[in-house]
Amino acid sequence: DTIGDNFDRTVAAFGDRDALVDRAAGKRWTYTELAAEVDALALGLLDLGIAKGDRVGIWSPNRWEWTCVQYATAKIGAILVNINPAYRSHELEYVLNQAGIKLIVAANSFKTSDYAGMIAEAGPKCPALEHVVLLDGPEWPSMLEIGRKADRAPLVKRQAELSADDPINIQYTSGTTGFPKGATLSHHNILNNGYFVGELCNYTEADKICIPVPFYHCFGMVMGNLAATSHGACMVIPAPAFEPKATLEAVAAEKCTSLYGVPTMFIAELADPDFASHDLSSLRTGIMAGSPCPVEVMKQVIDRMGMAEVSICYGMTETSPVSTQTRADDSVERRVSTVGRVGPHLEVKVVDPETGLTVPRGEPGELCTRGYSVMLGYWEQADKTAEAIDAARWMHTGDLAIMDADGYVNITGRIKDMVIRGGENLYPREIEEFLYTHPDILDAQVIGVPDEKYGEELMAWVRMREGAEPLTAEAVREFCEGKLARYKIPRYVHVVEEFPMTVTGKVRKVEMRAESISILG
Ligand code: ATP
Ligand code: MG
Repeated sequence: DTIGDNFDRTVAAFGDRDALVDRAAGKRWTYTELAAEVDALALGLLDLGIAKGDRVGIWSPNRWEWTCVQYATAKIGAILVNINPAYRSHELEYVLNQAGIKLIVAANSFKTSDYAGMIAEAGPKCPALEHVVLLDGPEWPSMLEIGRKADRAPLVKRQAELSADDPINIQYTSGTTGFPKGATLSHHNILNNGYFVGELCNYTEADKICIPVPFYHCFGMVMGNLAATSHGACMVIPAPAFEPKATLEAVAAEKCTSLYGVPTMFIAELADPDFASHDLSSLRTGIMAGSPCPVEVMKQVIDRMGMAEVSICYGMTETSPVSTQTRADDSVERRVSTVGRVGPHLEVKVVDPETGLTVPRGEPGELCTRGYSVMLGYWEQADKTAEAIDAARWMHTGDLAIMDADGYVNITGRIKDMVIRGGENLYPREIEEFLYTHPDILDAQVIGVPDEKYGEELMAWVRMREGAEPLTAEAVREFCEGKLARYKIPRYVHVVEEFPMTVTGKVRKVEMRAESISILG
């Protein structure tokens, strides 16, 4: 199926059901109403001469137009390029040129970012760029107006010419470990992934999914939007960018049945001073994903938010994204402490990164994924693609994992984040999990810093709960004493207000390492 055909089928089946709610805009659409916007936009894009395979960029926080652009570009076979909302003009220039973007749709501005100004600055240096459509300017309504009046025939014709294996999306990785890479994805890749993620969440047209995660990333546009539309469920946009209060309010007001977030978002919601005043009783399920999901946080999501069937998903942009997922009928123990089992029609294996051979169950190694979800490749970076995907089409994730006898997977960390102290391999994840059990610690991250004697030493960055006194390194070590092996006890402790983050809400350990080195002198 192509994304456009799949969307049309949902519209035919569930036309009068809620499709989309944009809380900040104060607007809502049924599937029939949303289809009218999507088709008008698709026709407007055809009118501007957008051909199959042309790149259309989108640069905006979450808002209803984002969703329309996602489906309209899919219908006409244009390749949607998701541009990071945090980019500055030189990064914009890079992505416009790297992807050869012909038309860009952008919010005029958001918070401190003047998108229109940066496009005006970078545009002249980007020869492929022909059209700029500003969402808050005259271009957007006029394009829709043209589309509304247009003859539908060219759209029907174009849609019929598309194949599910065509590239449809260039999505950049989060840039957690370095410069973001553009993963080229097909309809087949992302539509199947959205569909199966939704299937394992048992979505139907009765579900309403609260999506505070950015659309610009696969979590929002695939696990959120595509999972919703392929099952006739409703997408709820609580705010343009994540805010704990707006998210809780959206769940309560819209009676959402599902809530998404990276761990840091759930941590912020649970710690919100007004948490208890929101009625979250409509929540049945949700997804936590994107980075290691602390057991303590998962337990609270089940107990305090009532998300009895919550899933943990593991994946990466390059695999559309989800590879493994917990199921509602897995034991609670497994649902809080593992990333579940491999998804339908996919394979995963754990290999020794040196030899490439599969390791016995229960032993750590690099996780590899194969199947429909593996990207076509990095956009115009054949060398990088060849490093990541081997001849047998296995994607090497760079993540360390352990698979148990029943196929449940535990992610122990990224290969790049593993700390080698005195020849011993240390997994920050394990130590972070332990630190979370301290009553005053809100969030903890553990990194390796260079050390003359041991090669590397452990350092914990800690965020304190509101009202708690900052912990000293001694106090943290005392807390660990007797409960963690000595060599796993962090030598240094650094208390901070915030961690350096990516827009997708991931902690940037690269930045923390660099800063730690300068702190330690
Ligand atoms: P970059 O590749 O640019 O450094 P990134 O890897 O963070 O950034 P994404 O594709 O957004 O970019 O994220 C995928 C990564 O996120 C995975 O490789 C894994 O390290 C981590 N991840 C995702 N889900 C989970 C999870 N449930 N538990 C632990 N780690 C996870
Ligand atoms: Mg990555």
